[in-house]
Order: sequence, then structure tokens, then C-alpha cells
Amino acid sequence: MTNSYSSINISNLSEVESTLTALNDAKKNAAEKGDESRANQIWRDIQALKVVSTYFTTINNIKEQKYRDAWCKLEQCEITCKFLRENSSEEFYKKSGADFVERYVRKWQSLYPYCMFISPGMVVGYYTCSICNHKIRPRSRCKHIKGRIYNGELCTHQAHDIEFKEVSIVTNPVQKFSVIHDDETLDFSVLEYLCSHISSPFDEWEAHWTTKKFPRDRFNSVLKDHKCPCQSGNSFGKCCKDKVEIEIPHVDFELKNGLNKNVEAERFPY
Ligand SMILES: [Zn+2]
Ligand SMILES: [Zn+2]
Repeated sequence: MTNSYSSINISNLSEVESTLTALNDAKKNAAEKGDESRANQIWRDIQALKVVSTYFTTINNIKEQKYRDAWCKLEQCEITCKFLRENSSEEFYKKSGADFVERYVRKWQSLYPYCMFISPGMVVGYYTCSICNHKIRPRSRCKHIKGRIYNGELCTHQAHDIEFKEVSIVTNPVQKFSVIHDDETLDFSVLEYLCSHISSPFDEWEAHWTTKKFPRDRFNSVLKDHKCPCQSGNSFGKCCKDKVEIEIPHVDFELKNGLNKNVEAERFPY
């Protein structure tokens, strides 16, 4: 793992915090002097440090089985990465570690059992530009572009006079924070399994989804009215109950540093 803060120990939260404070001061200083390119570079350094340290905390949250906290932090990483990528060179994005985080955030998200989210429907009265406070109207825009950085600050459009209309339940939300599920009812064993096999949040791995057949007698604990282990969505009684072998979803992990042999065991939840 290489990033521009190789001298910072990102597992030390107070060291990360004090570095961020120092960078913010330096950014303010550069902006006041009108040194826009320096202010913008420091903005990138801040975002990269935030994203790498948040990712580090996220994976530790998963290890501690704080799955929902970790889920929200993955979302934070995703958003920060998006803005950073739009405002930096490919070289900086890779070198800072943000590129790694972006790829792995997607991989971790794909291992979560969440599939339903709340999406709020709202009507916004008007927006203002976060850089110059200009009230944005169809024929009256300022010179700033949403998502770009100016003198070390990200331009966002801030919503005013918001009126909430309804909430809907969606499977592919714009933002993923509002998960509907009750975590108690979900199976996080894939995450748990992977965590027990990696030694550092920056270990590299690949997940390969397949299916695997198991003999019927290994499913004796599944009742007729339970969901079928094959994940068809039907009840066991109406689906695979009378089959000789039952095919269930299976994930194989390939770890760059090799599996930790002491914990190697097949995951079988039934
Ligand atoms: Zn503006
Ligand atoms: Zn089935």
C-alpha cells in the first residue's frame, strides 16, 4: 500500500486527526494568499487521507461485526472517492490509495446481504452555490461547476425550502445509507468469513460467486415452510425438499497473501 502519507500511521486516529488539522490550516493559508493551485492540491491530500483512513476504520468495524456502521462508512468512502477522482489526475488518484479504496468499497458492498433501501422523494425550492452563494435559476447560473474545486473548496449546490413528498422502497438507491432491513434477521457470515482470513484492511482479495451441490441430508434442519436454501425465494417444501442434492450459492475467496490455513473451513450455515 503506497500513499502520499507513508510517514503517517493511519491506524493511529489522533495522528490522522492532527495531520488533517494541519492540512486544513495550510489550505486556508494558501487560499487566503490566493494560491489556488496549492489550496486545491491540499484539498486533494485531505480527501485522500480521509478516504484511506475511513476505509481502514471501516474494515475494522466489519471485523468487530459492526456491519451497519461499516456499511455507512463504505458509502462515505464511495462519495469522497467520486469527488476526488473528478478533481485529480489519474496518477495522484492511484498513488494516494483512493483508487484501491474505490475498487474494494465496491467489493465489500457486494458481500452485504442488503437489497432494500428507502428513497425519499422531495421537492426543492431553490439551490445556492456553496462557493459564491448565488441563487441558481434556469437562466441565472454562476461560473462555478458543481463537483469541482475552487481555491480548495468543493462546489456543491445546497438545497433550500425542502418539502418531503413521500418515501419509496428501492433496490438500487442513489444513496445507500437508508437500509430497511433489521440486521438481526440477516446473514453476515460471508463478511465474517472473509475478515477472519485477511490480516490487514489493505490485503487484496477476489470473490468468485458460484453454486455448490450438497447432499440432501445436510439440510435436515431446514423446515418445509422455511425459505429454500437454493435462494429461489420459494419455500423449501415447494422447491428443493425432495432433491437428492441441493445446489446453494457459494463464494470462493482468492487472497493475494494466501488463506490463513488455521481458519480454513468450509462455510455451511445449515
Ligand atoms: Zn458560484
Ligand atoms: Zn430450492
